[in-house]
Amino acid sequence: MAQYNLKAPVVVTPNDVITDGLITINDKKITAVKQAIKAQKTTKKTFELSDNEILFPSMINAHDHLLGSYYPRVLKSAPYKSWKPWDDELKSARVYKERGNIPPYYLYLLGVYKNLITGVTTISDHIPHFVNDPFIPDMPIRILQKYTLAHEVSSYDLNWGDGVDIEFKRAKKKNWPFITHIEEGFDAESKRGVEYLVKKYHALDYHTVLVHGLVLSNEDIDIIARRKANLVWCCTSNMNMYHRTARIKKWIDAGINVSIGTDSPMSADLNILRELSACKKTYRTLYKKDIPDEMLVDMVTRNPAHAFITTRNLGTIKKGNIADLLVVKGNPNKPHKSLVQAKLPDIMLVLFEGKPLYGDPKYKPLFETFKQKIYTFKINNTPKIGTIDPKGLMKKIRKFVGFQKKIPFLPVT
Ligand SMILES: [Zn+2]
Repeated sequence: MAQYNLKAPVVVTPNDVITDGLITINDKKITAVKQAIKAQKTTKKTFELSDNEILFPSMINAHDHLLGSYYPRVLKSAPYKSWKPWDDELKSARVYKERGNIPPYYLYLLGVYKNLITGVTTISDHIPHFVNDPFIPDMPIRILQKYTLAHEVSSYDLNWGDGVDIEFKRAKKKNWPFITHIEEGFDAESKRGVEYLVKKYHALDYHTVLVHGLVLSNEDIDIIARRKANLVWCCTSNMNMYHRTARIKKWIDAGINVSIGTDSPMSADLNILRELSACKKTYRTLYKKDIPDEMLVDMVTRNPAHAFITTRNLGTIKKGNIADLLVVKGNPNKPHKSLVQAKLPDIMLVLFEGKPLYGDPKYKPLFETFKQKIYTFKINNTPKIGTIDPKGLMKKIRKFVGFQKKIPFLPVT
C-alpha cells in the first residue's frame, strides 16, 4: 500500500503538539501533517489511533554497542576509575565467554529488537565500520552507517578508526558526524580529553559527537557550546559504573545539543524507556527539581537527528521527513510525560519508513496491507505482533549458549 493516513488525537512533532491530527504517509515519507478537522475528505485508507494513544516520531538511540547486547551487567568492581578497568573486567567475565558462543549477527538482532520494541528505529552503534557493516543491511531498522569515529582520545584507547585527526577530517569532508567517547574516567588523561581534541587534533566543531563527558570542566563545556559540538548523556551506564554522571544541567544551561544514549546493557539499564525514567529521577536527585519532559523527548528525537547530520529528515513529524513513527499509550493531556514514563506494554505501534514493524494486535489490518509475514508473541505478558520474530531469536540464542537463557531486555514469550 503506497499511501495511507494516520488519524491521531494527539501528535507530538515534538516541536509542537497537534490535536486531532491527520498524517499522510506515502511510501517512505510523511507527505502531509494536518488537523483532521481541516483535512479534506479523502478516499485514502485511514487508520485511527485510540483516544489514549499519542503519536510521536520514533526514537533515536544516540549511543549503543550492539555487539554488547547481552545480560547480566558486569559491575563487580564498581565504581571504576575509568572505562578501562571495566572493559578489562568485562573481557575476563564468565558472561563474556558465554556471549562469545553467540555469532555476532544474532547479538546484533538482540540489540536491534531491544531497541525496536521500545520505539527506537535509529541507532548509533559505536564500533568500527568493519564490525557492523556486514550486519546493517539485514537489520529491520536503521543503524547509522555514515559516521567517522574514535574510541576515545586517551593514549590507552582501543584504537578504533584511523586516528582522531584523520577521522575528523573525513567527517568534515563528507559532512558526517565524528563520534567518540570523551572524559569517561577520573585519571589525569581522561580529564584532558577536550583539551586534546582542541589543541592536539583540531577535532571539535558541529560534526563532533561526544559521549559521556563525566569530568568536563566549565571551560570544556564553554568551548563545546561555542563550537556547537554535541553531547550524549548515558545516565544509567555512568551511575552503574562510576556512581555518578555528567553535569547535565551545566550542559543544558550552556545551550549544548544533548541527546540520550543507552550504552550497552552490560553496563546500563535495559532499554531507552528505562533510561528516560532514570534520567528524570537522576536529574531530580542531583538538582532537586525536574527536568522538563519536553526536553527529554527532544533528547531522543530531534536533538540526535540534528547531531548525526545525515539524519536530519528524522526525529520530527513534518512534511517531507521519513515516516519513522511511534504510537504510545498514555495520557493525551500529558503527552511528553507519557513517553518518559512509558513501559514496554505501552508501545502500541512502531513504523519504519512508513511500514509497521511492531505493535498491538489491533493494528493488524495496517500490517496486513503490506503483505509481510506477521508474528504473534507477548512482550512482558502483553500480546504484540510484528514483522520480527523475537521468540525465534530467543530459541536460537538458547541453542547457542546451551541452556534456557533469559534476557530481560527481550522479555518475549
Ligand atoms: Zn559507549
